[in-house]
Amino acid sequence: MRVLTVVGNRPQFIKAAPLGAALRAAGIEEVLVHTGQHYDRELSDVFFEELGIAPPQESLGLRTADPAAMVEPLAAIVAREQPDWVLVYGDTNTTVAGAEAAGSIPVAHIEAGLRSFDLTMPEERNRIAVDRTSTLLLCPDERAAEQLRSEGVPGRSVVVGDVMADATRLFAPLARERSDVLTRLGLQPGGYTVVTIHREANVDPDRLARIASALDRLEGPLVFPAHPRTAGVLTTIPHAFETIGPLGYLDFSALASQARLILTDSGGLQKEAYWYGVPCVTLRENTEWVDTIAAGANVLAGSDPDAILAAAARATMPKDRPVLYGDGHASERIAAALYASSP
Ligand code: UDP
Repeated sequence: MRVLTVVGNRPQFIKAAPLGAALRAAGIEEVLVHTGQHYDRELSDVFFEELGIAPPQESLGLRTADPAAMVEPLAAIVAREQPDWVLVYGDTNTTVAGAEAAGSIPVAHIEAGLRSFDLTMPEERNRIAVDRTSTLLLCPDERAAEQLRSEGVPGRSVVVGDVMADATRLFAPLARERSDVLTRLGLQPGGYTVVTIHREANVDPDRLARIASALDRLEGPLVFPAHPRTAGVLTTIPHAFETIGPLGYLDFSALASQARLILTDSGGLQKEAYWYGVPCVTLRENTEWVDTIAAGANVLAGSDPDAILAAAARATMPKDRPVLYGDGHASERIAAALYASSP
């Protein structure tokens, strides 16, 4: 069996590491195609190097987030390779373009069935569009599968767990062993807050200014590896805190897993915080990872400075918390589901 996997964004490279290994182990040939939606070295190449991902067979280097610009070159590769499956991850424009470029080849969607119920988010529109056209819907949990049932999507849903949990299971111990990020940044375990912001809504200058004013008033050291688009907007906003550039996965994992608190608008990081046992404050009005909220480990604080500070002051990790989003072996189940669902 041959699958053609389309990636283009940081979280997709991270997920491609455990899944690529599981596909190889299951005897599935993978053609990896990188659209180049994320192209900065620190958002792309560094992940391939440190997570041991085989270099993409096709690197389109498109340097755009416009799905319309991605579809034609991707479709040409699909037509040439004639894979059994086109595999796409998550909710980005690369995901949408990959699914559209598949044409008559069946699509398998990883992270299917997630919903924030906020249609102003491009990610939400992307998820819905890709779920509707996928043949195989690989869900992180029962809630996602139930959502797809309620929407009546035509594809076959299989609950496999979350591939990000696989990455955490495989790489978090390695990160603690190899990374000296705490020493480099002069930090003590449990003694600092990690911040990441990159959602479209949060790089609106007024909204980012409100969040920045909360960050300035936050107690204790703050480490903010800023996404390039956030760093760009921050140059126009007065703030006293410092930022650093985005980190590789191993440094970031060592940093996030030993933080006192995480403040973020990232989807992936809300789950990682949960798995690491670090309380999370989410700088959004909604989330697709609602069970982290129900467990009391994550709080939605939006962009209001007082709400952010109050949530940060109160954030704790519940002592007994349920296992969420799988056991770190989603990749093996995905390989099995590809065989079992092969048309
Ligand atoms: N991450 C990283 N370096 C950083 C910030 C985040 O490696 O400087 C990782 C993080 O651990 C998580 C992933 O990037 O696994 C999340 O990606 P992002 O927030 O860009 O996307 P989202 O999850 O919101 O789709």
